[in-house]
Order: sequence, then structure tokens, then C-alpha cells
Amino acid sequence: MPQPIPFLDLAALHAPLASEMEAAYRRVASASHFILGPELEAFENEFAVYCSARHCIGTGNGLDALTLTLIAAGIAPGDEVIVPAQTFIATWMAVSHAGATPVPVDIAPVSHNIDPGQLAAAITPRTRAIIPVHLFGRPADMAAINAIAQRHGLFVLEDAAQAHGAGYQGKRAGQLGNAAAFSFYPGKNLGALGDGGAVTTNDDALAERLRGLRNYGSPRKYHHPEIGFNSRLDELQAAFLRVKLPHLDGWNARRDAIAAQYAAALGGLPLVLPLLADGTYQPVWHQYVVTTPQRDRLQAILAGQDIATMVHYPLPPHRQPAYRELADRSFPAAETLAASCLSLPICPTQTTADAERIAAAIRLSLQAS
Ligand SMILES: *Cc1c(COP(=O)(O)O)cnc(C)c1O
Repeated sequence: MPQPIPFLDLAALHAPLASEMEAAYRRVASASHFILGPELEAFENEFAVYCSARHCIGTGNGLDALTLTLIAAGIAPGDEVIVPAQTFIATWMAVSHAGATPVPVDIAPVSHNIDPGQLAAAITPRTRAIIPVHLFGRPADMAAINAIAQRHGLFVLEDAAQAHGAGYQGKRAGQLGNAAAFSFYPGKNLGALGDGGAVTTNDDALAERLRGLRNYGSPRKYHHPEIGFNSRLDELQAAFLRVKLPHLDGWNARRDAIAAQYAAALGGLPLVLPLLADGTYQPVWHQYVVTTPQRDRLQAILAGQDIATMVHYPLPPHRQPAYRELADRSFPAAETLAASCLSLPICPTQTTADAERIAAAIRLSLQAS
């Protein structure tokens, strides 16, 4: 029996960095400055430079990065915020936590990202912001989204939780709207060894307000101009992220090579493959998502050969009990994606032989049907 192929092998990814990670731990432990210290400041500078954004503000996680940015932008109860009909549900929950109402717009079937052609119809006098998600690491159609936002005076918050390093028209995610929220959840393209998040922005006033909001509404110790939160990226996670950030581009390039290998090996099957990079979009392949009406059968066959796959995501947010008030709405492209999507392993440490074995197993199972 061949070796099992895991979906994501973080132990293998981190193994070559072990001594640097241990040094990072010792540095933080000996300084014993655990919150809002020099590691966070250094990481914020390094990640801002990486994204070519003026500011980076570390937060406790990606959900808080989204929520706090909406609040800092003045989004409040009674406001509406446009979100894609298919995404990880955190995008929607951030809007709810800000007290506003998420207004879903269906995705475009091929890009899996919010369909700009359906945006205008969702805008009302209460609409204040749009959150385009760069789903699976592929940038949303930002030119079209920003043009509509500008016309209606809307705040654009990128949900870049799956898109660290993704390219769009020669720029990186993190500077494609008014602000961007990142997650450093361990499984993301850039992940901590625990929870973490960050906001990037070129807006000085927004950055200042975020620095306060994440820290009890206190931009300066024991001064509290507003009611804030406790949501900081801690020193230990910042130190680990500083070890990993210089490897991000190499890991993303490896993901891109695996995606190209899949694309070459899986042509001509009853399977819709994701769009590859072109002059406008450079996805970073947080997930490599194929769609097929035979999804469940294919997943079971691969599992039988010890090949791990996942479904991102089996239910769109409007089908979740948390958003039961939208249960009777229909977003056909989001629902079709949920019913037919399968994420293949695309871990940067995966070998060419692994990808070959996965593709061969898929060919065999779909040709046999
Ligand atoms: C992971 C993720 C989030 C939330 O990030 P956390 O750090 O887990 O809170 C938000 N949006 C999207 C699209 C995500 O994938």
C-alpha cells in the first residue's frame, strides 16, 4: 500500500525551520515581553512592506481583522455590507459582529468570486461597504468592484485570509481596496502556530483607529477614547511569522507548480478545473478546487486510496442555521459550487510523484464511470 497523502502537512513544512523557530521562541521568552512588543512591530513592518501597504495592524485572528476594520470604517447597526454568497462564513459573521447586515451577492461560476455584474442590483441607500473575498487564493475582480464602490461611495474591505501574496494587475492583495484583512490561522498560506490576523491599509486615520480598537480602545496606555476590544497578534506568533514570511513566495510558487501539474494531468475529464494564472490574476492556490457532479463518489474513491481531500464549503452561509432568515433565498452559483466542489491536496511539500498519483487516481475513477 503506498504512503497516505495528507491534505496539508504542516509538520513537514515547518521541519526545515525548526532551529529558527526555536530561536524565535527563546528570543521572546528571554525578553519576556509577550504582548505589543518589538516582534509585533517588526512583523507589522515586514508584512506591510511585503504587501506594499503603508500600515499593518496585527490582530488576534482573521475574524477580528475583518470586524474591527468594519467598525473602524464607521459601519454600524442599520448599515448593509455586501458579501459573496459563498465564502468561509467568517466574512459574513464579521458584518454581523459590527451590528450591520450581510447582503449576499452570488459568485461567478468560473472564478468562484463575487460576480461584479450582480453587485449594482444589491446596493440600497443603506449599503456602506463591499467585502470581496479572494476565495481559494484567486483575487476578486477588483477593478470592476472598485469602480462600482467609487460610484456609490462604498468602503472596500478585501477578505485576503486566503490570499497572502496573490497578485492582481501587478499588485499584491492587501492594497487592492481601502483595507484588507488577513488570517494567520495555521492552515493559511502564511500561518502562525496558533491564531493570528492582520489588517493592511494605506489610510492613516483608519490604521490609527484600528491600533486603538484592538487594544481596549486605547491608542495610548490608559487613554480610552472609545470602547475597544482585546485582539492583538501576540509576540510569540509574530516571531514565528517573521521566520515564515521569507518563505511565503517560495511556498506559493510550489503551489503554483502543483496547480500547473494538475491542470496538465486532468484535462479532458468530466471535471471543471480552476483558472490558472494570467496577465491579470496570479492566484496563490490556498485551495485547488475542482468541480464535478460526482464529487462524493470521487472523494470516497480517493479516500480509499489514502488520498485526503476536503470540501470548501459544503453549505453556503445562507443555508446555515446561523443565517436562517435567508434560508429561502437562492444563489444558484454558490449552491452549485457547494454541491460539486472538491479540494485536492496542494501542500508546498507535496512531491511531483504525489500529484501524479492523485491525478492518476482521479483519471481512473472518472473514466470508469
Ligand atoms: C480563515 C478565514 C477567515 C477567518 O480567519 P480566522 O483567523 O480563522 O478568524 C475569514 N475569511 C476567510 C475567507 C477565511 O478563509
